[in-house]
Amino acid sequence: MKIGFNEGTAMGCSTLEQDLLLCEKAGFDYIEIRLDMLREYLKTHTLAELRHFFDSSHLKPHAINALYIYSDLFSNRDDSARREALLSEFHFGCQAAQAIGSRNFIVVPPLGESIINPDTAQVNADCVRILGALGEIGESYGIRLSFELVGLDQSSVRSIAQANEIVTQVNRENVGFVFDSANIYINGKVNDFSEMASVEPSKIFAVHINDFSDIPQAEFDKKHRCFCGEGVIDLENYLYVLKRIGYNDMVSVETFRPEYWAKSPQWVIQTAYFTTLAVLQKYGCLTG
Ligand code: ZN
Repeated sequence: MKIGFNEGTAMGCSTLEQDLLLCEKAGFDYIEIRLDMLREYLKTHTLAELRHFFDSSHLKPHAINALYIYSDLFSNRDDSARREALLSEFHFGCQAAQAIGSRNFIVVPPLGESIINPDTAQVNADCVRILGALGEIGESYGIRLSFELVGLDQSSVRSIAQANEIVTQVNRENVGFVFDSANIYINGKVNDFSEMASVEPSKIFAVHINDFSDIPQAEFDKKHRCFCGEGVIDLENYLYVLKRIGYNDMVSVETFRPEYWAKSPQWVIQTAYFTTLAVLQKYGCLTG
């Protein structure tokens, strides 16, 4: 497997410009670029400069992060201003991806207030409609959409089974999954990742890796993600299942931890690299 860096990890203390240099220096194979950090970068740089950086570096761009869809999108209840804003963000990300040689875009399901009993049939129908339409647009740019289940109570799609139902119904070659160890874990402290084996392996377009602090479920938040080996996620099982189903692509470290952002971007990026490398080495994921 290859090691990726998701820009969420140092977003509170770094910039895209710094992330590029520090990730290249640390040894990362891929970087996942955040749209907000890309927009900031483009205030003083161009996409041609970014392309040039990747052309002359070991580091390559992986998925663009992220498009946040909402349940009424492309329905007859849709708000045209909201739709236009989302589509403008999507086209911007697709054009940027195309310009720098990336072909993946992360899509996050509708999030809201704490959703105790989501109407799963309605959520699934909405997501199928939305991913189908976005998939068609993405195809014109040569872009694949990676649908990311989010395990928090605020999310409408929290389990692998539900994400699989949606992606299977969409039935488009360029619409697949990104799995994220914390997002699977936080939906009820799941530490059995065998359900990942139920999806079509070629549809796993990206994988996020991280650990999670040992805290009560009621307090779960993305800020409790931590570097591999510092929390309670069974990463041995996570990586074992991925290996068993033949996944051999990128594994990208993604945390959103404010206490890391209080340190230097050098520290965050080097530590992110070594802790991810260590867990991949430990569980035999760096060969083949
Ligand atoms: Zn993720």
